[in-house]
Amino acid sequence: MLVSDWKTFVSGLFGYGARFNTGLAYNLSEVAQQTRASLGMSALEIAERLTLFPYYAKFCSRSLRRQLLGRMMHWSLRHQRGDVQKLIQRPHVIRYCCSCADEDRSSGRAATWKRCHQLPGVLVCPRHGVWLFEHPVNVPAYSAWPTLADVKQAVPVEFDVSESEQSAIRRIGDLSASLLCDTGSNASPPGEGGWLELARNCGYARGKNTLESALLCEDLIHTFGENYLSRCNLLPSGRQNWVVGRVLGTQSAAAALPEVLLWVFFEIRGSASGEHWPVCPNRYAAHGPAHPVEVRRRSHVKLFCYCRCGMSFVKKVGDDDADSAISVYGEAYAAEAVRLASDGLSGAEIARSLGVSETTARNLTRGSQRYARSSVEATAARASSEWKAAVKSAGIVSVVQKERDGLYRRVRRFDPEALESTRKG
Ligand SMILES: [Zn+2]
Ligand SMILES: [Zn+2]
Repeated sequence: MLVSDWKTFVSGLFGYGARFNTGLAYNLSEVAQQTRASLGMSALEIAERLTLFPYYAKFCSRSLRRQLLGRMMHWSLRHQRGDVQKLIQRPHVIRYCCSCADEDRSSGRAATWKRCHQLPGVLVCPRHGVWLFEHPVNVPAYSAWPTLADVKQAVPVEFDVSESEQSAIRRIGDLSASLLCDTGSNASPPGEGGWLELARNCGYARGKNTLESALLCEDLIHTFGENYLSRCNLLPSGRQNWVVGRVLGTQSAAAALPEVLLWVFFEIRGSASGEHWPVCPNRYAAHGPAHPVEVRRRSHVKLFCYCRCGMSFVKKVGDDDADSAISVYGEAYAAEAVRLASDGLSGAEIARSLGVSETTARNLTRGSQRYARSSVEATAARASSEWKAAVKSAGIVSVVQKERDGLYRRVRRFDPEALESTRKG
């Protein structure tokens, strides 16, 4: 069969009056039937090899995947509803790469749209690394579908981005294309609780299950740029936004681009910071060596660490070898200092033995440093019961936090879980 008019032929292939859909193909049973002699693929093979289905399927539960496939097999003009509609993006543009089109033409083929350029958030060609162009599609029913030959005035998607933003945006394209074609090492995004774990490893956590959400959103915006995120309708704003929701797992509906954004973001952060959870340098604590501190707060390049043993210190981000600047030594040091003093050691000798300055050694021996006299467990218990009582009487955590800053800090240092439990309750 010789096709004289491709545009009408293609739309006719998908059914009489079929509308152009840049999101997900449909009526594939019919298409497979019609192209049996030329293509020789089953409807499922067409879905797997020629549509965006393999990409979206990576973000689906098994049942949603089945549902998605079911919809692709049949002829439907109905608006897609529910989870499928939330998952599939249907932009009003179709994108293409000039270099890809040139390659097509120079090898004697007709230039065609490529499916990897239609993936959500992909604005840079994964093959050529150049900005894509976009062509508006507003194709009414019963009219022919556009081909690349229809593009008269090409509009590049290019907009103002920094170099680092552009490389992050480019990485979105590369990762998305590898998901579509099943190449690359990471086959699917991390499962439940996975993002929180990653966030924690990248330094966005204070303690167990707590998230430095404001800093996380700020850094994510910085990574991709406001322009790009707004363009994708994914600029996080407010305290309850998609970034926080997805990382904490409260937003769990199937989604593709948000997952890819988080994926690329943590990949970049993880490799940039090379940061490990800080270890407590306390030599006398009951918890022994290499104990990860309970609480860690990040402020720009500094990590403020608080350990259960009573020690507090500051570390520089990404500098694992540098010494920690210890601000509070805690009870174990005081006990050791007192023991050495009762053995008759001089202040200078005690300082040398503990590895602290003479002034600190003197303070520790006299028990004048905070927390030197009572045990950490007792301090923790007192702080958390005082905190719980205050929250109970005020009713609102934020009010107590504002009015009793000292108490708040003490609970945060000694019993972060108590703090979390009052926040949740
Ligand atoms: Zn290209
Ligand atoms: Zn410690």
